[in-house]
Amino acid sequence: MIVLSVDGLRPDIYRAPERHKLFPNLNALENAGASAESLETVYPSTTYPAHATIMTGVAPRRHGIYSHLASLDPTEKARPWCWFAAALRAPALWDVARASRRRTAALSWPVSAGAGIDLNIPEIWNPAAPDPHKDFETPAQHSTPGLFGEVTKLLAPLLGTADPDQLRGEAALYLWNHHRPDLLLVHFVWYDAKAHTFGPASEQALMALESADRAIGKIRDAISSDPATTLVVLSDHGFVQVEKEAAPLVLFARHGLFARGADGSLALRRLGAVNAGGSMAVYWLETPSADDRRRLEAAVNELQGTGAVKEVLDRARLEALEADPDAELMLEAAPGFSFSDRLDGPVIGESPKDRGTHGYLPSHPGMEATFIAAGPEVAAGKNLGRSSLKQIAPTLAQIMGLPGDILATEEKPLDLKW
Ligand SMILES: [Zn+2]
Repeated sequence: MIVLSVDGLRPDIYRAPERHKLFPNLNALENAGASAESLETVYPSTTYPAHATIMTGVAPRRHGIYSHLASLDPTEKARPWCWFAAALRAPALWDVARASRRRTAALSWPVSAGAGIDLNIPEIWNPAAPDPHKDFETPAQHSTPGLFGEVTKLLAPLLGTADPDQLRGEAALYLWNHHRPDLLLVHFVWYDAKAHTFGPASEQALMALESADRAIGKIRDAISSDPATTLVVLSDHGFVQVEKEAAPLVLFARHGLFARGADGSLALRRLGAVNAGGSMAVYWLETPSADDRRRLEAAVNELQGTGAVKEVLDRARLEALEADPDAELMLEAAPGFSFSDRLDGPVIGESPKDRGTHGYLPSHPGMEATFIAAGPEVAAGKNLGRSSLKQIAPTLAQIMGLPGDILATEEKPLDLKW
């Protein structure tokens, strides 16, 4: 089985009739296989919690990847991400495959560094690198010994001209043809990158998705004569356009929730925060005083007064959403708004750096994720309706004929047959 994750792909982006000719391979795969109308994602609807759910079948509260960041300190300059599979508190599909002696491979898969994967080039970078897409040294250090050199030798003629998804596509074909793993996971990132900068339906984002579509077509061609292989294309969350940005940390600083360093810059006190674009989690890193609590409440009230906040989710709401158990609250941005990490400047910025984002509640229109599967055991043209990201891991285990009960999920696999 080959699983291709197209980061940030909302189903209606490739399905819109006027775009069928831009994305012929996604649409052909959908016609040839079974597909969900939409997948409900997780909270926050960001890449790392969502990919951990895709691989484990459980929500963030259960698998332990609550956000993309491994640091809760918003004053830290270069913050590490949750790259390491050791942080997962539930078995992943690759563990299930290994228990059945199947060979696994992964390319740039989130939360896979150090995982029990036979051939692995994980997604990881030096957080201080100016362009993470050009940091090849860090993934090389964390890859299966020898594998990174083996793959980059093949890709050398393409470096400098090809986009990141072309490189991933070619690397995937190489792994498939030369190592033939039983499970190959590939993470395509270029659409997400362009959709953030220019917006999810911008020309630049659609061009990036055309590149992913071409890579999907090449991989589909490569397995076309192989009757045993299932090809899955999915995503982690959707995307929406944004018009304005709000910087909650600016207000938190004004209300005295940060300290000042010797150079006058803001420094950590008791309040932690993780910005997910469409939402922001706020943490007490130490027991707050009554005064701290009053300051946070006042800051949140003032932020709500700007119209940038749709709702404030308290601990009970976060528990019901199976989200971050450590957060004191999460701020959900109002439609059209995204949150910024800025510590200074105006609270509301009229022209955000990014034109697109995600991270909102799973129910926020546009956050829907994609699922398509085509293969020998899959009905052609079957509509799977609305499903959940939590159903994907048991479904993938079933496609591979693996014992799904090793997973911690309570979800049933999707019925891909007629
Ligand atoms: Zn993503």
